[in-house]
Amino acid sequence: MRLLFEPHLVHQAFGDPGLYVDFRDERRALLFDLGDVTVLPPRKLMRLSHVFVTHTHMDHFSGFDHLLRVVLGRKPRIVLSGGPHFIDQVEHKLRAYTWNVVHRYEIELVIEAREIGADGRAQRCRFSSRTGFAREDLEPVAFADDVVHDEATFRVRGRFVDHDVPCIAYALEEKARVNVAKDRLSALGVSTGAWLRELKHAVLTGAPDATPIRVEWRDRDGDHAMTRTASELRHLILDIVPGRRIGYATDLRYTEANARTLAELFSGVDLLFIESVFLDEDAEQAARKNHLTARQAGEIARRAGAKALAPFHFSPRYQGREAELKAEIESAWKDASALREA
Ligand SMILES: [Zn+2]
Ligand SMILES: [Zn+2]
Repeated sequence: MRLLFEPHLVHQAFGDPGLYVDFRDERRALLFDLGDVTVLPPRKLMRLSHVFVTHTHMDHFSGFDHLLRVVLGRKPRIVLSGGPHFIDQVEHKLRAYTWNVVHRYEIELVIEAREIGADGRAQRCRFSSRTGFAREDLEPVAFADDVVHDEATFRVRGRFVDHDVPCIAYALEEKARVNVAKDRLSALGVSTGAWLRELKHAVLTGAPDATPIRVEWRDRDGDHAMTRTASELRHLILDIVPGRRIGYATDLRYTEANARTLAELFSGVDLLFIESVFLDEDAEQAARKNHLTARQAGEIARRAGAKALAPFHFSPRYQGREAELKAEIESAWKDASALREA
């Protein structure tokens, strides 16, 4: 199956957290967290359209300067999203430099900062190189069902978890796609037309099977028309590809509220990137630092029904013991699924 996007961690499990998501056909990418991104070549940073920051501890946001330096004067626009105080923090970063010549750069850079609120609203500001990155307020936007970003082919959901400070866990979801089987279309003796758009819409919005679709087309013999149900046509000529979902959660305490939030947000995800900072033998330390142990991460993955796991954000104290962290998360995820089957 051809996938819309390809996710990979910016660093190995011991480096700064970050997930780079490449869109195969679009020369664009998303980034979750903005820690050390110097390992990403400039051409990859140039592809970023949106960056989603979980929270602004340094290992998640110190890459702002490097990114800005790469895109300034070369890229017209980038959108950064984060949690409470995020717009102020972006502004403070920008205010730390002297901008007396950037207004002359041929390519204007506009940074849009979005501050996601727990109240279902996002405040927005823009900072343009033309004005030396002076802050300009934009209309806030309301969002529903945790959807903090929505496009034709995918959406991003975000939910707050508790890391002593608010931190956002993100889910990236490919929308279901319908592909038209051209060969079956011609076998049926019809050609494309406005009806095909109507059919796709009916299928994607879950219209009843019996919904009539008036198929109208024209060929060299003239105009033709027939009526068929959405269900009939769908089986004849459409291939429906279900969307793939991935989760990204890092920096949170192991609490029942956090576990429940993530189990809901990540329900049935195909691939879950989740922090596994400590071994469970150091659970007290993990609690004190507001992080998960590998076992706790595995339990969350099991509750969410995640189909595959990618643990990361390992504490440097376990250098050389990577296998133990991986084994621990795996067994918490799998042992429990064995229990569930029993
Ligand atoms: Zn943190
Ligand atoms: Zn961190």
